[in-house]
Amino acid sequence: MTTPKTGGCLCGAVRYSFTGEPLMQAVCHCKNCQRQSGSGWSMLVGLPKAAVEIEGEVTTYTDHGTSGDEVYRQFCPTCGSPVFTRVPSQPDMIFIKAGTFDDTSDFAPQIQFWTASKQDWIELEGVPGVPGNPG
Ligand SMILES: [Zn+2]
Ligand SMILES: [Zn+2]
Repeated sequence: MTTPKTGGCLCGAVRYSFTGEPLMQAVCHCKNCQRQSGSGWSMLVGLPKAAVEIEGEVTTYTDHGTSGDEVYRQFCPTCGSPVFTRVPSQPDMIFIKAGTFDDTSDFAPQIQFWTASKQDWIELEGVPGVPGNPG
């Protein structure tokens, strides 16, 4: 992935940039990602929090995963675009919704989560899947 990578929400109030290769590039088909995005999935990259610079304020919605653990879904309060996800078990990490990249052309998922709730018409060739959460 070419970095620094830049991106932001639909209205531009929230902007970010990061350097360094993401530690993870993934697609999530879970029902909560579908509901939050109004779409079939989330495209996610995971990065050390220290690698990401953020401008603008996000609103945090505290969601819960199937394990009951909190999932902080952060979105722009003006346009509603989901931009970041944080989890308390990985406080030094931040997950960015890769659909908000200015240039999404070099996003390359290495794994897909929650294939159990995947849309039938989505087929990602060569991307290993797990039926639920990672691990
Ligand atoms: Zn916005
Ligand atoms: Zn998900």
